[in-house]
Amino acid sequence: MNCPKCNSSDVAEIFWGYPGNLDSMKEKLDKKEIVLGGCLVSDHDPEFECNKCHNRWGDAEHNFSDKTDSFDYDQGFNLDEVYDQ
Ligand SMILES: [Zn+2]
Repeated sequence: MNCPKCNSSDVAEIFWGYPGNLDSMKEKLDKKEIVLGGCLVSDHDPEFECNKCHNRWGDAEHNFSDKTDSFDYDQGFNLDEVYDQ
């Protein structure tokens, strides 16, 4: 994976949303393997950021929004029960 703008291989994956456990991500954050994109997500967020020129590109898939779509809260679906399995 190289930056399409400056061709650097020093590229970080953008983490969208609020990190539940920042400690477990700290090492990757320190290495700049991932960067925090912020808590507000949209349908068109970039997936990668170049650590050299800060160019952002790609199309991030927000997995949690996929999960939300597949759950029917009107039927009393319980997220905690799903994660316990
Ligand atoms: Zn770049």
